[in-house]
Amino acid sequence: MHIDDVGCVDGATGYLTIDLGALGRNYLALSHRAGPNGAAAVVKADAYGLGAERVAKTVYERGCRHFFVAQFMEAAKLRPALPQDASILVLNGLQPGNEDICAYENIVPVINSMEQWRNWSRTARELGRRLPAALQFDTGMSRLGFPPEERPQLAAEIARGTDIDILFLMSHLASADKAESIQNWEQLEELRAIAEEFPGHKLSFANSGGLFLGNPYRVGLARPGVALYGGVPSDYPSSIEAVVRLDVAVIQTRTVPAGTKVGYGGVHVTHKETRLATIAAGYADGLPRSLSDRGAVFFDGVRLPVVGRVSMDSITIDISALPDGTIRLGSLVEVIGPNRTLEDVASEAGTISYEILTGLGHRYHRQYR
Ligand SMILES: *Cc1c(COP(=O)(O)O)cnc(C)c1O
Repeated sequence: MHIDDVGCVDGATGYLTIDLGALGRNYLALSHRAGPNGAAAVVKADAYGLGAERVAKTVYERGCRHFFVAQFMEAAKLRPALPQDASILVLNGLQPGNEDICAYENIVPVINSMEQWRNWSRTARELGRRLPAALQFDTGMSRLGFPPEERPQLAAEIARGTDIDILFLMSHLASADKAESIQNWEQLEELRAIAEEFPGHKLSFANSGGLFLGNPYRVGLARPGVALYGGVPSDYPSSIEAVVRLDVAVIQTRTVPAGTKVGYGGVHVTHKETRLATIAAGYADGLPRSLSDRGAVFFDGVRLPVVGRVSMDSITIDISALPDGTIRLGSLVEVIGPNRTLEDVASEAGTISYEILTGLGHRYHRQYR
């Protein structure tokens, strides 16, 4: 592909294509997999960098009614974009001072501690109405949620009567990406204990990885995030489609003799005559510096290795595998796409798809399909 084919939109030299059709199908597949309670959509961090509003509206149309963000500000921003029958829940919990605005804006806090429970209960009393919440329990991750020692007290307060409508009891898996990890089973057992201590409530447990751990983990409302966006390991038995494609323009080409240094530090030295191209994206655009001298981009299905260090605004690639003249100023190479998946990029960079997705910068022209 050449930049003329896309019309050099906004003068951009990078094109991030987000396939909302695939995203919608991923939601339906995950929701189906989750069972009768279906799936929420985790749209924190601007829907893993893909645009919370567009993503949330897409899955709302597919029947999604629960949306998780991390922070109150994300919820406040998303609220006007969704109909009132959509619940927007704040995973990080209820922060002091946000109680009234949560209540007025119809934002649902995930209550993570006795202190937050009391603050939310007080708000309900003061406003003279019932307020919704999800209760999150720590089942072994030591990150967020009621610690085990607070459970008896919470149970006692609920038994005495409460102004809080408990939408569901939830917990989060720490090792869902490792099917063989015993921690998954330990956390499930702990969740079962919680369900007995707080009878009569719905549950919410599995994230993306949890949905692929087997039947026992598909309890209640699932909370997939990364799988919606196509970020699943390729060995998963799933029908999850890629959602993101990234094409970046060539901004210069050259031919250099053997023994030529390439990029910062001169760490790469050519061992034969080499044709090089420089493309217009670097670590400021979310392509980590750890990709230096590793991995590759593609053009017409041909692999073009990254050579030398990743710069802030550019990466140099070896285009010798292609006939001379194939790659020229304005050629678009595939950085993420059918030949080089999000997962490939993440593993080459020594990280996870989440970090690649959320890091994709704002200098790309974004197109939603
Ligand atoms: C981020 C998050 C999720 C979504 O996790 P994925 O692995 O992206 O599916 C679900 N639940 C909680 C509590 C989270 O923090």
